[in-house]
Amino acid sequence: MVRGIEVVEFACGIPHLLKGDFTPDVGRGIDAYSMRQPLGVVAGITPFNFPGMIGLWMAPMAIATGNAFVWKPSEKDPSTSLRIAELALEAGLPAGILNVVQGDKEAVDALLTHPTIQAISFVGSTPIGEYVYKTGTANGKRVQALCGAKNHMVVMPDADLDQTADALMGAGYGSAGERCMAISIAVAVGNVGDKLIERLAPRVAALKVGPGLDPDSEMGPLVTKEHLAKVKGYVDTGVKEGAKLVVDGRGLKLQGYENGYFMGGCLFDNVTADMKIYKEEIFGPVLGVVRAKNYTEALKLVNDHEYGNGTAIFTRDGDAARSFANDVKVGMVGVNVPIPVPVAYHSFGGWKRSVFGDRNAYGAEGIGFYTKVKTTTVRWPTGIKSGAEFVMPTMK
Ligand code: NAD
Repeated sequence: MVRGIEVVEFACGIPHLLKGDFTPDVGRGIDAYSMRQPLGVVAGITPFNFPGMIGLWMAPMAIATGNAFVWKPSEKDPSTSLRIAELALEAGLPAGILNVVQGDKEAVDALLTHPTIQAISFVGSTPIGEYVYKTGTANGKRVQALCGAKNHMVVMPDADLDQTADALMGAGYGSAGERCMAISIAVAVGNVGDKLIERLAPRVAALKVGPGLDPDSEMGPLVTKEHLAKVKGYVDTGVKEGAKLVVDGRGLKLQGYENGYFMGGCLFDNVTADMKIYKEEIFGPVLGVVRAKNYTEALKLVNDHEYGNGTAIFTRDGDAARSFANDVKVGMVGVNVPIPVPVAYHSFGGWKRSVFGDRNAYGAEGIGFYTKVKTTTVRWPTGIKSGAEFVMPTMK
């Protein structure tokens, strides 16, 4: 939520960022200026996993740049969006500027085809994002669709392994792995794999799983019964594919919450690139360790993966970190930072099949997405009279 509130604060400074460009004397007695104008009515379609924050990546930027915004939250957690819209009204936003429409595919399809909607911001899974992008653009809309992920952390042999294990615990199992920036694959370079597993295994087995409202819980339940079954199904598949299940959280039962959608953390070793548990997004508390001979092999793994949302390298070697940050085909990179979600004045977005469309969310990219550029070339009749002109104005 903090990142969402940061975007509200960023959007409060929008006049500075919306200032246009002015060039005097582009021709004799002629000036030119460019300004950014709003698109009109724009919509945002958001996923279940951050019911407040992701809408706040969109709405403040869309509204501060002059648009009206229609928010279609996930049908799985509809109330946060309503509360935010109530608060906006209370804060003085005129009625009709921040609107919430509830529903699932039917509501999304209505937005994708509605002639009034000029642009769609989507955040969610890759198959739905691709559909939203294709349908929205086919209906003449500007679309940015931020999608699924399989984020790798490359662990170099010189990394501080205690710090790395701490980082992997938070990044792999925080929010029960239901984060698009969660680390789901650790690439252990050289001989670091055994030492990493040694540190991780007891901690994964000891994760405190419990209800989200209990301040002692480190990991809450998964979002639905179907999603719990899907995540456990991936763990079954990983075992069948030959990965070594070092910690098995499938059987966890919480006393008093026997019907809750809880599972314990799972840790796989010896995951390989041909496995389904490597290729697909699991979106649960399942971390896989892949062994790589060297840095080059590790980088190739990350770059060959179909997703490119976030990644991290853990190392003490500045040269390796710099090469990684330059060469990796991923949109958001952390150097000894496991979840490199950019602050509001940068911008959020992945590469490859983690995104459709070419503008990131929030920051200057968000301003570009929600506005169109208009450039006006001006000459006043009191200027030099030159008779009929058959060419465009130039410096001559
Ligand atoms: P989802 O794709 O199931 O749903 C996202 C939105 O699309 C929801 O509002 C939903 O109502 C709507 N939707 C669902 N099915 C639809 C259909 N058939 N047609 C049209 N609209 C449909 O995603 P989710 O399960 O809510 O969220 C988890 C996914 O979101 C993960 O893949 C995660 O990686 C991704 N995610 C990505 C980012 C990012 O910034 N890249 C951030 C958070 C989550």
